[in-house]
Amino acid sequence: MNRCLTNLCRIEFPVTYRCNGRCIHCSEAGRRGISAHIDGDIAAKAIKRVASEYKITSVMTFGGEPLLYPEDVYKIHSAARDCCVASREIITNGCFSRDCAVLRSTARRLAESGCNRVLLSVDAFHQKTLPIEPAKIFAEELLGISGVTVKTNPAWISGRGADNPYDAVTERLVSEFEKMGVPSAKGNVIFPAGNAKKYLAEYFDPEKEYVNPYEEDPHDVKSISIDPDGGIFGGNIYRTDIIKILDGYTGE
Ligand code: SF4
Repeated sequence: MNRCLTNLCRIEFPVTYRCNGRCIHCSEAGRRGISAHIDGDIAAKAIKRVASEYKITSVMTFGGEPLLYPEDVYKIHSAARDCCVASREIITNGCFSRDCAVLRSTARRLAESGCNRVLLSVDAFHQKTLPIEPAKIFAEELLGISGVTVKTNPAWISGRGADNPYDAVTERLVSEFEKMGVPSAKGNVIFPAGNAKKYLAEYFDPEKEYVNPYEEDPHDVKSISIDPDGGIFGGNIYRTDIIKILDGYTGE
């Protein structure tokens, strides 16, 4: 086992960078030109290979909007379930379709595939370009399915109760979901990257050095992320066995 990966326990799939939203805080906005989405069969095979060598406890799909490619998402979560990965999460805007029947059937198939935690991106930023109703229908369907938890996962400028117009709107939106029985996860405080750096500059201190909360020690990697085009650590799972790629990782 690669010493840099001794504590590896999580595999992330940004399924695609495509998105039907246009959020002003989006950290992935600059990557929109990358049109690829992950191939669910190859991703599933990669999960099985990694889980055979490492103690993987968490698999997450997100994006872009992952449910623009639901079949690939189902395959990823099915593979995670088959490998006894305990936490099988998705982050979605819940607004991947305006068709009520599609929203409801996607919720059911997602649960059937093995996904057991759905985090809904609901906040002042997402709802500037995405309607709230589809996310509510999607959440309502999930609430009726056992074995799946659904929570809102808002992005905050500072946090709940903070004195700024964005967080006030987010608080109201999150409360609407709470009234439906959908609790709120902690969410995340916006990091100055991508669109956020461009459009929300007034909320960041130009003198302060912000630390990306998602960055980790390259010599003690706990989580790996496989790009929509299959890329990881300079290799590609479409061409090379993922274990071989992981074995060659040096942390440099
Ligand atoms: S829904 Fe997510 S990925 Fe899409 S634009 Fe908004 S923040 Fe970015």
